[in-house]
Amino acid sequence: MSFGNLELGRVVGSGEYSDMKLVCQGCEFKVHKVVVCTQSPVLATAIQGVFQESRTGIINIENFEPSTVSRMVEFLYIGDYASRSDETKKPTLNDITASGMMLQHVQVNAIADYYNIERLSELSRSKFQQACQATWDAQSFVDATNGALGLSGDGALHEVIATEAAKNIHTLLEIDHFADIIGEFGTRVLRNCIKKAEADQHRVFQLRLDFEQEHSKRQAAEARADRIIENIGRCIQTMRERGFCRNHSCMAEYQCYIERRGQSFEPLYTLRCAKCKCRD
Ligand SMILES: [Zn+2]
Repeated sequence: MSFGNLELGRVVGSGEYSDMKLVCQGCEFKVHKVVVCTQSPVLATAIQGVFQESRTGIINIENFEPSTVSRMVEFLYIGDYASRSDETKKPTLNDITASGMMLQHVQVNAIADYYNIERLSELSRSKFQQACQATWDAQSFVDATNGALGLSGDGALHEVIATEAAKNIHTLLEIDHFADIIGEFGTRVLRNCIKKAEADQHRVFQLRLDFEQEHSKRQAAEARADRIIENIGRCIQTMRERGFCRNHSCMAEYQCYIERRGQSFEPLYTLRCAKCKCRD
């Protein structure tokens, strides 16, 4: 006996051994209490309580489309639901990729929220986010947001929407209906937040540039100081070790003076024989 996903998928398709029915706009979904009620406390209460539904085994779903109910049932049996275009109309590419996709996940999220199916809420949020990121379309997003705020009480979905809105705020502010959602004053506040964020970003960029310049200046100064110290070290060593002038025609006992050459910011010290001026 197998209760794997494929087996359950086949059982829901045929309605075999069904002991419960979901009815939505004339569409019937023959389901099993053991599958449905263990995942939705709301449907469990309805079917097991003292309500009419517990006698008839039929639950009428009025607030959602049959296509949404179908996705919920699909999820209850196989743990996932396919993203499809609306079966009742001929879809265009845009319907499927943007607006249709986003709204579809919002509707699934709303039914999951309504029937308290937490894992379906999570899945629909995740699919909604993927749809936003895969095919961003500001108008479709605004339509989906309107749907989500009206249909679903899932605060976590609203948070996902707010996060995606923030990422794409520039394009959203170009859409009139977005202002309808957040209000005219909200739009003003948002525009000012963006201005301030951009100014802050510019300032941070400038500070980073200044820091990098100062850092390379300091590195150059440290390298110069190292070269000067090394130069002086070599002079001291020569004075210690040399007994006679290295010029064979001079051969005087080595007495030298220090000559300073190079740039003002990086002097170069050299020893010269006090007698023949020969550089050591
Ligand atoms: Zn000499």
